[in-house]
Amino acid sequence: MSRDRRLVVTNALLDGKTVSLTALDGKITAIGPEAAVDVNAGEMLDAGGGILCAPLVNGHTHAAMTLFRGHGDDLPLIRWLKEAIWPVEQRLEAEDVYWGTRLACLEMIRSGTIGFWDMYWLPAATARAVEDAGLRAVIGPPLFDPPGADLAERNRELESHLDELAGFGDRIGAAVAPHAIYTVGTASLEYAAGLAEDRGLPIHIHLSETREEVLDCVKTHGMRPAAYLDSLGMLTPQTNLAHGVWLEPEEMELISERGATVTTNPVANMKLAVGGVFPYPDAARAGVPMALGTDGAGSNNSLDLLSDLKTFALLQRHAASDAEAIPVAEAWATATGQRSGLIGRLGRSVTADSEPLTIGAPADFIVLDPAAPELALGNLSSALVYTAAGSVVKDTVVDGRILMKDREVEGSAEVLARVREQSSRLDPGGD
Ligand SMILES: [Zn+2]
Repeated sequence: MSRDRRLVVTNALLDGKTVSLTALDGKITAIGPEAAVDVNAGEMLDAGGGILCAPLVNGHTHAAMTLFRGHGDDLPLIRWLKEAIWPVEQRLEAEDVYWGTRLACLEMIRSGTIGFWDMYWLPAATARAVEDAGLRAVIGPPLFDPPGADLAERNRELESHLDELAGFGDRIGAAVAPHAIYTVGTASLEYAAGLAEDRGLPIHIHLSETREEVLDCVKTHGMRPAAYLDSLGMLTPQTNLAHGVWLEPEEMELISERGATVTTNPVANMKLAVGGVFPYPDAARAGVPMALGTDGAGSNNSLDLLSDLKTFALLQRHAASDAEAIPVAEAWATATGQRSGLIGRLGRSVTADSEPLTIGAPADFIVLDPAAPELALGNLSSALVYTAAGSVVKDTVVDGRILMKDREVEGSAEVLARVREQSSRLDPGGD
């Protein structure tokens, strides 16, 4: 028996034509009119006349925080962290993180997201969940400077987490993830920059999320957050900066020069009421690589990136008083990881040179439901940005494997049952 993994997709629509697609070992080997593609061998997916579409990539989340959805809903960022999140996180165990992440993966598969950039505790449990769910992820064990902690011991632990992550398959990448400049001191940030360089890993950090963070940074270090990170060697083409709400035009120029990516998380920013809007027009003018993220389900509270895409585009237009602030094509490219090589690559060492849905590209794609009324009329890109939510996704394929077929995800009943069981022990009023 051949060990090659073959997938054949038939009866799909692409650019208005009916096509078939074949994939071998996770790469697209043929795509075109039915007659031109050998449809005889492999696992079959009948697209039922659905449109083949590039998938979404979530540039910033904390997947296991599905466990804390609805905890501290009405608190601002710092009180939310201190009162609703950090105390219960002290009690987390690997099985909590595993099932919380499986729930997140289920939501992402059902809304067309094929990979995500994660930052969370017990990262090997996240990696195991992502592998079992069939998605891709770049996972960063968070680095904090807790008061009174033994930093040498903390560093050893962090490095052993990175070693563990290196043992997973090629759908899992690792990142060095200092939480933020207000929770990690200068010495630890320098250590993180050195560690990332030594190991050839990306850096994933929250930056410029609240006005207080910026004011504190200027007061303590005499410079704004982007310049501060740059002074520590942390702004590189391998850096993913989550939020960037308060970045000024000069900081955008600097980030663009260094080639770092800013991932905007508009829904989480609004829910935590950070009071500002990521200055997309400045970032676009400066040529900053960009991505879209949901942030964790604790502060969003959804992981439906297709739904957040609408909010992203609307918020930018509204904030700029300019209906031309973000064209549909730019919004869509941001949500699919195509405006940042770093985010779209999802930890793979080789750049996917090919455009999505072409020969040689990874077999990562979605099929849109041909019966979805939201997609029945009008321009498809516009419908995806402004009309559709994740429920229009019919099938999800990652690495040549079918993760969802006709909206059914294998094992979803078990995930729901197990995560309910796990989360009951983390209830604020629980044991
Ligand atoms: Zn975050």
